[in-house]
Amino acid sequence: MQYFVNVVLPIPLEKLFTYSVSEEEAEFLQVGMRVAVPFGKSKIYTGLVHDIHTEPPGVYEAKEIHQILDEHPIVHPVQLQHWSWIASYYMCTLGEVFRSAVPSAFLLESETVILKNERTEVDESRLKDDEFLVFEALQHRSSLSVQDISDIVERKNVLPILNRLLERNVILLKEELQERYKPKMVRHINLGKDYRTDAALEQLLEKLVRAPKQSQVVLALFQLQGGTKNPITIRELEKVSGCSSAIIKALIDKGILEEQLRRTDRVVYQGDGLEVQSKGLNEYQENALNEIKQSFEKEKVALLHGVTSSGKTEVYVKLLEACIATGKQALYLLPEIALTTQLISRLQDYFGEKVSVYHSKYSIQERVEVWNNVLMGKPKAQIVIGARSALFLPFANLGLIIVDEEHEASFKQYDPAPRYHARDAAVVLGNLHKAKILLGSATPSIESFYNVSREKYGYASIKRRYGDVLMPEMELVDLKEQTKKRRMKGHFSERLLEEITETLDNREQVILFQNRRGYAPIVECTTCGHSPQCPNCDVSLTYHQHRQQLRCHYCGHHMAFPQSCVACGSPTLDTKGFGTEQVEKELHALFPEVKVGRMDLDSTRGKYSYEKIISAFEAQELDILVGTQMLTKGLDFRHVGLVGIMNADALLNFPDFRAHERSFQLLTQVAGRAGRTKKRGKVIIQTYNPYHQILKQVSTNDYDGMYKEQLYDREQYHYPPTHRIIKITFKHRDYNKLNEASLWFAKSLRNLSNIQVLGPEYPPVARIRNQYLKNVIVKMAKQTSLRQTKNSIKRIEKSFNAISQYKAVRVIYNVDYV
Ligand code: ADP
Ligand code: ZN
Ligand code: ZN
Repeated sequence: MQYFVNVVLPIPLEKLFTYSVSEEEAEFLQVGMRVAVPFGKSKIYTGLVHDIHTEPPGVYEAKEIHQILDEHPIVHPVQLQHWSWIASYYMCTLGEVFRSAVPSAFLLESETVILKNERTEVDESRLKDDEFLVFEALQHRSSLSVQDISDIVERKNVLPILNRLLERNVILLKEELQERYKPKMVRHINLGKDYRTDAALEQLLEKLVRAPKQSQVVLALFQLQGGTKNPITIRELEKVSGCSSAIIKALIDKGILEEQLRRTDRVVYQGDGLEVQSKGLNEYQENALNEIKQSFEKEKVALLHGVTSSGKTEVYVKLLEACIATGKQALYLLPEIALTTQLISRLQDYFGEKVSVYHSKYSIQERVEVWNNVLMGKPKAQIVIGARSALFLPFANLGLIIVDEEHEASFKQYDPAPRYHARDAAVVLGNLHKAKILLGSATPSIESFYNVSREKYGYASIKRRYGDVLMPEMELVDLKEQTKKRRMKGHFSERLLEEITETLDNREQVILFQNRRGYAPIVECTTCGHSPQCPNCDVSLTYHQHRQQLRCHYCGHHMAFPQSCVACGSPTLDTKGFGTEQVEKELHALFPEVKVGRMDLDSTRGKYSYEKIISAFEAQELDILVGTQMLTKGLDFRHVGLVGIMNADALLNFPDFRAHERSFQLLTQVAGRAGRTKKRGKVIIQTYNPYHQILKQVSTNDYDGMYKEQLYDREQYHYPPTHRIIKITFKHRDYNKLNEASLWFAKSLRNLSNIQVLGPEYPPVARIRNQYLKNVIVKMAKQTSLRQTKNSIKRIEKSFNAISQYKAVRVIYNVDYV
């Protein structure tokens, strides 16, 4: 009897590839184990066993596998089912899903470049002979290819050796190099060991009566710790005690206080293992929780629609508690993990070490660690918080999925394939596991609310903020009128300035929102009208004043800011529009004594810079925070009295069918950062269109009105949620070829029945990195068979690829694009 395995290779192949295995291998192998296999003339890939059988492939002679790489499966069969759904629904290959699903350390291949791990002290005596040869070679050469290593150990397949070296941190893969970082250490203070009991503390305070300053410090520390024994940052202690660092130092020298350096920049659990009791819910939260449970009983996905600061997180906590009490795993999905230190520490307070974080910015080793913990069902990874890729972790026993901020567009992967929507893929995953599924938002997506209205999803709502804090008061300021009456200072209306002044006088903080980074988006010559363009993309360069540069936000191309116009030579370059950088600069001029911070892609490039800005703002080291949409991501600040929207119009006018829905969500979310405690917050929205429907709906918190109007438009124009859309993008360097090819494709699509075809049309930026782009949009009614339509499209693609001059044109599918 001959034995074969079908293997998923991490490349875009339509079909699985078949290899032959010996009888012993066939007996040992299980679905979900990795094997090293030869492919093509000389490549070696890591493949995943999909099934084991005795059918030889019809059209080619099956090669033998090189080697089995795992003792146990690293992927469960249910995951393969989920991945297959993703591949088929989002029109890509299983190989592409495999590639993006597992940490890259699992995918060693002949192209991988290997480096020495400088951070590890290697005990040479513990290396096997072949491992030592590799290790030694890396002492002399900065990097090695897999082929080099093959030559060194005189063996064809070296992936198992490399896997072992990788596990022991002896080597690194090349792509890891960018991930080096220096941890940020912050000075923390705690009571000295001898003073941690109540009795000792009392004695100490008696002893310190003659040193009022010193006892002030000790009392402040005690107050800050609030019953815990957690160390406090020295900065906080100085602030609350009102004492200088010299006094604190004196106490440290006496051993009364103790100093510790702590890493604050990595999300690791540092608590004392004492988990805090979760909070009792108020009646609104309690009702919502009951409604959610009722949906779960009917095996329905539930949508929690709770206004900003209504305490949704505390409701999630109750569900997480219930889930882990049954011994099952829970997945908490978030749109952007980098912005959620606050949430992570909140959950760690409740669940301690049971919380793991899965994060694309983590090093490969850290990701492998979480993967293995989930695979082995370790208690450490019972609750996983992660961005969309956490969906791919090897859960065996998933009981609950929470998709927080479910309306966020960043749940959709844009590039590369699989272009999946994590919310929708999470619902499928949950169903495969028969897990409970909760979507949560203050501003649900039209899609999810539509599912509620059709009774496909259950619904729970919380209409009041926790603690009966009022929703912020909203005011629209008409920029046209303010300009006419000469009441503008730069980009600030008189009203906004008044409110900022008042807020700062009340010792509260301000958030200013402008959804554009840089200083000004466009530079224009006032003499000839020329504005500098990116040479690679069809877009104007953006002015970054701080670096005196023009930059392309699509490809990163940049140049020094020119002294004069490159077209006519006049020194008359002027800026149009404005970004966060300019807002920050104007603030410095208007409020010279006020501390201003900025949060956007430019100010947060470093791995932990988000956290730094957020904690500085939290600690009230900043008075005003200027930022882009990053500010909206569920941050819970305690002292924000005012939120100002610098200009709402750019959002509303964005050319996309979702622009109005997006504007509503974004503005409501930013506004929600104001007045989250006791006092009512205020929001000022500056706009040239104060009568715009969406702005009215935002200012009256009229979600239902917004939903009805948007749904009507979507139905009229055949967009989701009443219709499905697939965007097909064509990409090529040659402008004429692209035009011809996309026209051919669109014409063939128009022969299909039951679908509507728009385009080909250029996107707003029609050339990126020297590649021209054209889009075709396919729309179909919900009742049209998606599977059949996709098959027909794939068939057209086959004929398209058979035409030699079109072959090089890339075709990219984006199903349910957002
Ligand atoms: P949301 O996620 O809806 O924006 P949060 O869960 O962040 O709201 O809650 C807002 C604030 O109210 C938080 O500071 C939270 O600690 C507090 N809070 C919410 N629910 C409770 C509760 N049941 N008891 C005490 N405090 C609560
Ligand atoms: Zn000019
Ligand atoms: Zn560019």
